[in-house]
Amino acid sequence: MTQEKLVEIQELVKHFPIKRGLFSREVGSVKAVNGVTLDIYKGETLGLVGESGCGKSTLGRSLIRLIEPTSGEIRFGGKDILKYSSRELRQARRQMQIIFQDPYASLNPRMTIGSIIGEPLTIHKLVTSKKEKVDRVVELLHEVGLRPDVLNRYPHEFSGGQRQRIGIARAIALKPEFIVCDEPVSALDVSIQAQVINLLSDLQQKFKLTYLFIAHDLKVVEYISNRVAVMYLGEIVELAKSEDIYRDPKHPYTQALLSAIPVPDPKAKKQRILLKGDVPSPINLPSGCPFHTRCHYKIVDRCKTEHPPLRELAPDHWVSCHLAE
Ligand code: SF4
Repeated sequence: MTQEKLVEIQELVKHFPIKRGLFSREVGSVKAVNGVTLDIYKGETLGLVGESGCGKSTLGRSLIRLIEPTSGEIRFGGKDILKYSSRELRQARRQMQIIFQDPYASLNPRMTIGSIIGEPLTIHKLVTSKKEKVDRVVELLHEVGLRPDVLNRYPHEFSGGQRQRIGIARAIALKPEFIVCDEPVSALDVSIQAQVINLLSDLQQKFKLTYLFIAHDLKVVEYISNRVAVMYLGEIVELAKSEDIYRDPKHPYTQALLSAIPVPDPKAKKQRILLKGDVPSPINLPSGCPFHTRCHYKIVDRCKTEHPPLRELAPDHWVSCHLAE
């Protein structure tokens, strides 16, 4: 991993309007992403974690413009991709791919595996003959640990883990630089999760890939991430090197998430921090610190009125909390 920035996100906002009535009047909005500023370095895996509905998938999809952000800036390789025309965006998509959580829903059930993996090669005119396409697809199948004889089979004939390998083969077909891995193992059995994570890790080494690895579970991202960003109600509340987050979490939300991870040694005592209540609605965000309605710290008035900025509490360890130190 270098310190060279591949993706630079500035004040990214995504609000989904809520419309009602005959004239589709806007009556509010779901504030999914609220001013995220973040860099992703070349060759790293940045883990992005948080409970479901915290905006992490919306953020991931916005980065590759599968969703159009409401405002903000996204630079990829130094270029502002929000200013791209559709033709420029199509070109840029070769560099930015996504692996989805549910490999079954994301693979067209009527297409053979060969067509699914080969389709992006045809769209981007990277192959000139049928033979060249088949050869390349076979090569990609090999990269993800599948045999060439699956070419003419259909997605329903495969297990969840194998389907995810097919999704990965499709994602790497265009030799991208950056892949958003959107909960790629959450739908898989625990025994299969490690295999898929190892495969992603191997491919990263081999093809010098950069990942944004989204998960709702801190445990899942621990081994694959160089850095981890914790998201709550559309904001990054803590960002640090992986080892620092797990050794010394500073935000009360991260502390609570980590305390919920079971430890293998039954004698090792770990006190579980129970989060109060549910995540507030992203339609009506709390005032001040977004976490104040559930925080286990002895909060101060400022928590309810003043939004805590992300502060660098230790080298490369950023925390958005008035009281963290
Ligand atoms: Fe808790 Fe206050 Fe810190 Fe928010 S700012 S996380 S409410 S202590």
